[in-house]
Amino acid sequence: MGQKHQQTNDVKRFLESYEKGLLGKKAIAVVAHTTAKLGTGWRHTYIKRRIGGVVTLCCSTCGSPITIYDHGMEVPATAEEDMGQKRLFCRAKVSGYALDEEGRVKRDEDGKPVWEKRECHAPLFAKRCGR
Ligand SMILES: [Zn+2]
Repeated sequence: MGQKHQQTNDVKRFLESYEKGLLGKKAIAVVAHTTAKLGTGWRHTYIKRRIGGVVTLCCSTCGSPITIYDHGMEVPATAEEDMGQKRLFCRAKVSGYALDEEGRVKRDEDGKPVWEKRECHAPLFAKRCGR
């Protein structure tokens, strides 16, 4: 980012110019990356992990792939655009010690910590800095 390529936002015009040979054979369409203007002072947060050769967006808290709904199917997000315009929470199931209302490790009758599977529920957004 920050590197200024010559941008041709109008793809149609680009192709026309390309056909006329105006841009030369090596012209590469740099389609403007439409970074969704979220505008409300927050941004998506995620880490990128390569899973089976595919760069997948993952929760920065538990590291599980962030899943989104695409036509009713739950699929991992592979691009920030996949995350849409809404604030998301991690839906991954993680294992951990059960916590009570005060955030302490819950214990069973024998005093052993209770291990459970629960939803990570980490926020996948953060306040945007520098605004
Ligand atoms: Zn998570």
